[in-house]
Amino acid sequence: MIYGACESNAVRLNENDAMSISSADADVGAEHTVQDLYSLKVSAVASDSDIVRTATCPVCGHNEARRKYLINGTKFEIVNCTQCNLGSLWPLPTGNEIRSFYPEDYYGDGGSKFSSVIERVVRMIAARSALFVARSIRRSGRVLDVGCGRGITLRALADAGCETHGFEVSKHALRGIDPRVQVTVANSLAQAGYPGGHFDGVLLWHVLEHVPDPSGVLREAWRILKPGGVVIVAVPNYSSLQATWSGAAWFHLDPPRHLYHFPITALEQMITTVGFVPISRHHFSLRQNPFGWIQSFQNRLPWMPRNGLYAMLHRIESNRRKPFTLAIRLQLWLCFWILALPSLLLSILAALLRSGATIHMVGRKPLTN
Ligand SMILES: [Zn+2]
Repeated sequence: MIYGACESNAVRLNENDAMSISSADADVGAEHTVQDLYSLKVSAVASDSDIVRTATCPVCGHNEARRKYLINGTKFEIVNCTQCNLGSLWPLPTGNEIRSFYPEDYYGDGGSKFSSVIERVVRMIAARSALFVARSIRRSGRVLDVGCGRGITLRALADAGCETHGFEVSKHALRGIDPRVQVTVANSLAQAGYPGGHFDGVLLWHVLEHVPDPSGVLREAWRILKPGGVVIVAVPNYSSLQATWSGAAWFHLDPPRHLYHFPITALEQMITTVGFVPISRHHFSLRQNPFGWIQSFQNRLPWMPRNGLYAMLHRIESNRRKPFTLAIRLQLWLCFWILALPSLLLSILAALLRSGATIHMVGRKPLTN
């Protein structure tokens, strides 16, 4: 996870530092628990013909948007650029506000974000993603995972023989990271101070939707990549079947943490504007897409807590206090098991229709500018 710019310089952590991180940035998220943020209700704007003047769109440069969703109980809403259809959180939050969206319990406990069985499944799926990454870069290449978190992808890449580097803005996110990963902590990717032309691959795995300047992050990725190197960008797909069917109930809206919501065309426009040559688009994610169907379906049931299943699986303190009644917990589990197979089949169908709920694109930096 990565967010806004700030003052301090980059800190490179050695193995012992990474293992002994405790509560260094304890002021983050004092106002919220992660449970509060996942349960924020979202509703559609009554008339989506309302046009507002916004900040300059990071994709197309336009500054008018159509009001789309209200995030209840906050000053924020989601608006869609009238030119490229990029969704944006509006008004854009300040750096301090963005920090408050990531309370310490967002990162889980002791390097695990989920309950033990789910954590094992997440790690298995991450290893599969890592194999995809390893195939996209040269053998034993040097790879940087921006917003590396617990480093579950980097662990698998290190196993595959890659030289692994991780970048994070929060020390809390790094708990439990593999000691083979060379970690840098700074307030933005640009402040990390990586040399130009240094990496064979840069992963932006569900990063761009969280940052206030996504095109700036892509430009920095371009700078630090070697000619011929690849950037791998994954984001939720705002133009997907799942997003359209779910509307305000869509799990991957994740307000207010997701500052931007990318339709495929907008993402591709931003990548090509920076100079990358798109190589491939991928529409299936076992980790993200079936769960998105299940949780979005539950979110459409008015008596169910928004993102209740995710909160229940998420390994957080407030969850240990069991905030849901037994009846709700039983319904959440029942929904999960009944919808597990249909959601997998829907995700396969959506992928075949090139409309995955999350997508990842691979772009190459040309050998010559
Ligand atoms: Zn736009």
